[in-house]
Amino acid sequence: MQVFLLKRNLRLQDSDPFYEAMRGYRRFGPVLPLYIHEPSIIRQPDICLQHQNFIFETLDELSQEIRSIGGKLLELVGEAVPTLDVIHQIAPIARICTHQETTQGVQYERDKAVRKWCSRNSVKLVEFQQDGVVRAGCRDQKKQTFPEYFADSVNRELKDPGGIDLGVRFASTPLPSAPRVTIPRAQGYDRPFRQRGGRSEAEKLFKDFFSVGSINSYPFKLSSPNTAWEGCSRISAYLSYGIVSDRAVMKAIDDVVSSGHSYMDAAAFEKLQGRARFYLDRLMWRRNYLQMFEDDPTLEHRHALSQFDGVRISDREDPLFKAWQSGRTGFPFIDACVRCLKETGWLNMRGRAAITSFATMNLWHDSLNVAAFLAGEFLDYMPGIHWPIIQVVSGTASPQNGIMVYCPMKQALDHDKDGVFIRKYVPELSDLQAPHIHDLSRTTNHLSDLARRSGFLPYPAPIVDHIATARVAKKRVSYLQKGKVEVLSQDHESSSTSSVQLGLL
Ligand SMILES: Cc1cc2nc3c(=O)[nH]c(=O)nc-3n(C[C@H](O)[C@H](O)[C@H](O)COP(=O)(O)OP(=O)(O)OC[C@H]3O[C@@H](n4cnc5c(N)ncnc54)[C@H](O)[C@@H]3O)c2cc1C
Repeated sequence: MQVFLLKRNLRLQDSDPFYEAMRGYRRFGPVLPLYIHEPSIIRQPDICLQHQNFIFETLDELSQEIRSIGGKLLELVGEAVPTLDVIHQIAPIARICTHQETTQGVQYERDKAVRKWCSRNSVKLVEFQQDGVVRAGCRDQKKQTFPEYFADSVNRELKDPGGIDLGVRFASTPLPSAPRVTIPRAQGYDRPFRQRGGRSEAEKLFKDFFSVGSINSYPFKLSSPNTAWEGCSRISAYLSYGIVSDRAVMKAIDDVVSSGHSYMDAAAFEKLQGRARFYLDRLMWRRNYLQMFEDDPTLEHRHALSQFDGVRISDREDPLFKAWQSGRTGFPFIDACVRCLKETGWLNMRGRAAITSFATMNLWHDSLNVAAFLAGEFLDYMPGIHWPIIQVVSGTASPQNGIMVYCPMKQALDHDKDGVFIRKYVPELSDLQAPHIHDLSRTTNHLSDLARRSGFLPYPAPIVDHIATARVAKKRVSYLQKGKVEVLSQDHESSSTSSVQLGLL
């Protein structure tokens, strides 16, 4: 029998391991699709209930999909190696087909243990590359440039099993699936308005976003939280769990551009190509970050620049850190971003960078603590993107990334001038109009009738002086990035400027 092992590759379409397992059923035996709910992973501090429920929804749909083509998905609870052992005793496994993952250390260790188990038990293990990321230390695998990877992706046929009679190739399940109630519950709470799991949800987004109109307007809509929800693809969570492949996204973009070619004049077509490239840049960054983390997974636990060790505040009980976590900093735009996350599990990139900058620069909090908290807040949490990008924003990655300090007031005025986003997520201020909603002397202690009736407290005063703290943070980061360990006093003038690198501004 073969096991098609599902991890962060929760799909049948464009799935090399599924395709390979089905193709090899005569030689290696029928195929058992398997998902293991591993307590050691569920218990990780960065895994939260919203992630777990998203996975459940995806598995429910996947299970139906597999059933519709004649198979059955087996879901078990336990650590990977003992679980495989149990299955192997009942129905010997000849081969496991799966994807390589770029995730937390605990999953990396799990993969190593599975590899060892396979070699001990003479089980053949086939692990396919995902997202074009080359496994760390695999010198024999060629790293493609992004243009090469893109060309390869759009030219390669997507392996969709639909329409092929696969029923005979599936194995019957050696054990019953574990009931959901036996699966340990992840920590935290779910988000009421988050995206739902499942391939059909991703397909709806594909239909909405991958059109000439959406691609053309994307660059103008991604920065403001008022337009980003509709204007961005919001495909990230589906990419993070491998519900869709990045190749499928690239192909969808390519199809939009090709469709434009058939009816557009040269100028309109050139414009469309430029906007499509703008979107593709994001997929390129995504792949770069994943490769960066694959090459250095320790970024999950340490600052890339060690001179930042122990320099920032690391007390998670610090009242200012708590105020930031609960969206009560007294800076309406920052609080709206954090509260939006708490309701939806999603925020546009600029909003993410702004709240990260506030915590690491204005509050001078350790970036590893900030990243750990935000991991639970982002439904699309992808360790390979998340840990490196937070190091970049907080200045701990490399001096070449420069210094990124996002002024909370400027972000508000530039991207929520009328205060629509703030009013939506900060009910204490729901009766304030612009420009008053951006005036901290007016927002301090303000409480709308609506919020009072719902039991809110008056809106807090700003917890820090954002101008002074930004000035000091810029100076400190600049010194530290140059390898100097001395931390400056508050009255030094700032000479550094913000960075436009890595597309973060
Ligand atoms: C502090 C911080 C933490 C982040 N953590 C995550 C994370 O855990 N998981 C995650 O998927 N993204 C993360 N991002 C990147 C980015 O914010 C999200 O991918 C994006 O907002 C998701 O929305 P979307 O799918 O509508 O993106 P779109 O704007 O539609 O972009 C399309 C896709 O490109 C990729 N992408 C977009 N921007 C970036 C970027 N700056 N870097 C890398 N890839 C990008 C994503 O896969 C995204 O789905 C983080 C950004 C910041 C600043």
